[in-house]
This record gives sequence, C-alpha cells and structure tokens, in this order.
Amino acid sequence: MKDYSSHVGIVGGGISGLAVGCALELHGVKTIIFERGKDISEYGAGISISPNGLRLLEKLGTKEDFINESFSPKKVVMRHLDKDILTLEAEVLTASRQNLIKVIHQRYLELGGEMLFNHECLSLNQETCEITFTNSETYAVSHILACDGIKSPIRQRHFSSGTPTYSGYSAWRGIGISDSKDLHFNFGPGSHLVSYPINDQESTSFVGIVRTKEANEDSWKTKGSKDQFLEDFKLYDYKTTTMLNSIEEIYKWGIYTRPPLKSMHSHNLTLLGDAAHPMVPFLGQGGCMAIEDAYTFGALMGKLKGDFKKAQLAYEKLRLERNNKIQSASMLQGRLNHIRSPTIALVRNIVMKHTPIVSIRTRKIWDYDADAAIEKFFN
Ligand SMILES: Cc1cc2nc3c(=O)[nH]c(=O)nc-3n(C[C@H](O)[C@H](O)[C@H](O)COP(=O)(O)OP(=O)(O)OC[C@H]3O[C@@H](n4cnc5c(N)ncnc54)[C@H](O)[C@@H]3O)c2cc1C
Repeated sequence: MKDYSSHVGIVGGGISGLAVGCALELHGVKTIIFERGKDISEYGAGISISPNGLRLLEKLGTKEDFINESFSPKKVVMRHLDKDILTLEAEVLTASRQNLIKVIHQRYLELGGEMLFNHECLSLNQETCEITFTNSETYAVSHILACDGIKSPIRQRHFSSGTPTYSGYSAWRGIGISDSKDLHFNFGPGSHLVSYPINDQESTSFVGIVRTKEANEDSWKTKGSKDQFLEDFKLYDYKTTTMLNSIEEIYKWGIYTRPPLKSMHSHNLTLLGDAAHPMVPFLGQGGCMAIEDAYTFGALMGKLKGDFKKAQLAYEKLRLERNNKIQSASMLQGRLNHIRSPTIALVRNIVMKHTPIVSIRTRKIWDYDADAAIEKFFN
C-alpha cells in the first residue's frame, strides 16, 4: 500500500477532478488525482463556459490560458427553424473540451498537484480511506473525492442510487466548418441544435438533440449514420444544414440522468460534478456546476483549516439546492426547446422575443458568486 495519507485522493481527472485539485492546492491542501484514462485526451466536442464558470476559472488562475485556447462568440442567435427569435450579446467562451481540460491540467501541475493515469478505481474503504485500483495498487489518503462522472461507480456503490436512466433525449455531435462567429440555438419540433465556433479556423462544434424513445448507448464514441442525422434535422434552415453537411465524423449517443441526491457526502467521501448531479445539457451548465462545486470545496477547506467534516457539511448546504435546481431547470429547458405544436411554439417565441425572460433566467444562473455565497453562509 502507498501512503498518501497527507493527500486528498481525487478519483477522476475530468473538469471537476482537475478543478478541485487546483482549488485545494491553492489552499495548501495536497492532492493526488487518479484517472483511469492513459492521458488527458478528450473527445472532439465543444463546451461553452458561462460567466459563473469563467469567474472561477479566473480565481483558479486558468482564465488567461483558457482565453488563449478558446473562442469568444460575438452574439447568441436564437431561431425557430428558419425564423429569428432573438439575438443577444454573447458572454460565454467556447472551446474544444480537450483545450479546457488541457488548461486546467497544466495549472494543476504548476500548483504542485500529482496525477496518475491508468488508475481505475476498483473499490474504496471509507473507514480506512483506502482506494484500490484495477492495477492492484492501493493508496491510503486523507479524504476521497469522487469526480468520476455520470456513470460514477463510487456513487453507485456508496450512495445506493442505482444506475443512470435514459432521459428520453439522444444527442448527435460533431465538428463542422462555418464562417459564423456566433453561438446559435435552433429550435424545431422534437429537436434542437446548438452550434458555435471553437477556434479562429472556423471549426464549429455542434450538438443536435432529438427526443426519441430508442435508448441509445451512453457513449461519446459511438459513430452515427450521416444520412439519419441529416434526416433528423432536414427542417432546419439552409445555412444550418450546410454546416451540418460539412461534418465528416458524426457521433450519436443517449443522454442519461440520475435522480437528485439527498446528500453529496458520506463519511470520508464527497461527490462532485456529474458524479453528484448529472444533468441534461440544455442549459450548458454541467461543466460550470462542476467548476462551482470544485471551487467551493477548495475554498471551504481553506476557510475551515482542513476540517473535512465541517467542509463536507458546508459544501452540501451551499451546493445541493443549487445543483438540484439547475438539474431540473435543464430538463424543463428541453421541453421548451422541443415544443411540437406550432401554436404553442409561436407563443414561446413571442414570450422570448418580447419579454426579458431569457435574460432573467440566464442571469439567475450566471450571476452566482461562489465567494459571496460562502461569506453569506458563515455570517
Ligand atoms: C452534449 C453535451 C454538451 C455539454 N455542453 C456543456 C456546455 O456547453 N457547458 C457546460 O458547462 N457543460 C456542458 N456539458 C456537461 C459537461 O460536459 C459535464 O457536466 C462535465 O464534463 C462533468 O465533469 P466531471 O469532471 O464531473 O465528469 P467527466 O467529465 O465525466 O469526468 C470524469 C472523469 O473520471 C474518469 N473516471 C471514471 N471512472 C473512473 C474510475 N473508476 N477510476 C478513475 N477514473 C475514472 C473518467 O475517465 C473522466 O476523466 C455537456 C454535456 C454533454 C453531454
């Protein structure tokens, strides 16, 4: 057994694992990340980070590097098939997921963090704080953070929450070519499409969501048929379908969720990110919530001078309700995006266009200030 009892053991080196590694290292808490993959490679897909996530990336010391590796869309354009509904100023940064992960990983190493690849967690003992891996190694750590994503075997074993269930939505994804500098939301009956540039070379990430009873596999790596894909989005406008046509590799997978948790911790174990609250991606907030969780846990450990028990309790009070609310708001957004009735869709479009509803909803999510929330909690 390897003695890392002075380190927090983080299982999973995705957004939440790397971000909490940075947040803890910044507060002088030593960490080690165990990642099952052989390196930090991510799938060819995009991610948008909204102001609530960007502010925290800045506090973690990664914003400048992220700006250099991302794209700043000019506008957010919302359309219903070929009709414009609304255009807003864009406040998000968009990037390839790989670049986001790369930037946080670099910062984690700069801060002195340690990361081991090819370490797939097999089991853990909450009493003794030991983690055993499929390569037969065992590490003793001071506390365990489960950042192992939606399928989280740790959540499954230690929180009796069952397996993820199919949400009723499946996603297409790919990278196409477009000269648009904007982030586009296109709504249609039973589907919607989100696309945005991820660099200055016109590479455009798109995710197309369809409502379907067929429960596709939950894997970002499953290739889909281009003909079926173009058929699913044939009602969309000419510019959109041209961009879709330029995509060479196309993937299709099922979107899965889990019911909200009543608690995000148990004994020496705390859940973060998708392991705690996987959500349908219709508000683009899963990664941002992972960053908020990570920043908050690190800041609490700093404020509470390394007292895990107190940090866990405060973390749960600060994060559970917000995560659960955004999880259910994301599901509602899917229903609004996919309205089939032309009359109800028209009403939706009018409300979006002539009332501040979109800005009010996004501001509620984007204006969250993690430090202010922590201060409020302790006062
Ligand atoms: C189509 C789509 C679009 C999205 N768009 C956005 C967006 O625009 N903005 C946004 O904020 N969010 C978005 N999200 C959500 C976001 O991708 C996730 O919420 C985020 O990746 C969660 O990060 P995580 O670190 O918790 O989990 P993950 O990114 O899943 O990372 C988990 C890590 O744990 C590792 N792991 C798993 N099991 C083990 C094990 N047993 N041992 C060791 N390691 C293990 C995995 O290899 C992986 O590296 C989107 C999601 C989807 C599906």
